[in-house]
Amino acid sequence: MEISFAGKRALVTGAGKGIGRATALALARYGAEVVAVTRTQADLDSLLLECPSIRPVCVDLGDWGATEEALRGPGGNVDLLVNNAACAILQSFLEVTPKQFDLSFNINVKAVLHVSQIVSRGMKARGRGGSIVNVSSQSSKCALQDHAVYCATKGALDMLTKVMALELGPYQIRVNSVNPTVVMTEMGKLGWSDPDKASAMTSRIPLGRFAEVEDVVNSILFLLSDKSSMTNGVTLPVDGGFLAC
Ligand code: NDP
Repeated sequence: MEISFAGKRALVTGAGKGIGRATALALARYGAEVVAVTRTQADLDSLLLECPSIRPVCVDLGDWGATEEALRGPGGNVDLLVNNAACAILQSFLEVTPKQFDLSFNINVKAVLHVSQIVSRGMKARGRGGSIVNVSSQSSKCALQDHAVYCATKGALDMLTKVMALELGPYQIRVNSVNPTVVMTEMGKLGWSDPDKASAMTSRIPLGRFAEVEDVVNSILFLLSDKSSMTNGVTLPVDGGFLAC
């Protein structure tokens, strides 16, 4: 199956590290003009060294006004959007603080809504449709120890994905999510570096391993591409079968 994003502009949030960075680089390899959004300038500097054609935007997506300002130019004429940036702060349910709750929902849900509004308004005005992929998690559908707030944000994100699919579909804007199992990025290492925890999780995954970054990137590319042109509103597990059993 051949995929090309030549002639398309793609915007990826959280493109400084992990899954977002690999997605931005893959999109550029497949011909897209890529706008990479993250909040750490050093990550953008190193990304540009790797791929000089990428257009960098440094902003904290938790800041509504700054995001509006930063995306005023680069957020226009976007055909493909990947809402990938998120934070994972692990606390037991009884210890969750209002600060943790607000911070997590602000990045993992509210910023996704905001960036999607900015981009899809442009998509609607241009009348050429588009494709949006939200990076959710297996934790939207299955309870994980110490993940109360993170699970809740990803559950909310799945419903946001479905309502966006419903309301943006008539403009030929498709909205889907990928829902990965653990990936050993910086975020993954926070929760799953302990070998006992890791093996307890892999033992529940029929394929017997965590996902690689490329496993997630390939599913994102498929959902962005015309190869999935009738797929809208799905939450696609990339979990080796974890959610199936
Ligand atoms: P990483 O922590 O490796 O990378 C996250 C990226 O998002 C970083 O570049 C980070 O920048 C950026 N980011 C975070 N908050 C903001 C913000 N407020 N404004 C701008 N940029 C921000 O995470 P992963 O690659 O592992 O995760 C990517 C996505 O995949 C997330 O949505 C996550 O929930 C999801 N996921 C991850 C899993 C895993 O096990 N890793 C499993 C399932 C889903 P900075 O470093 O500067 O904060």
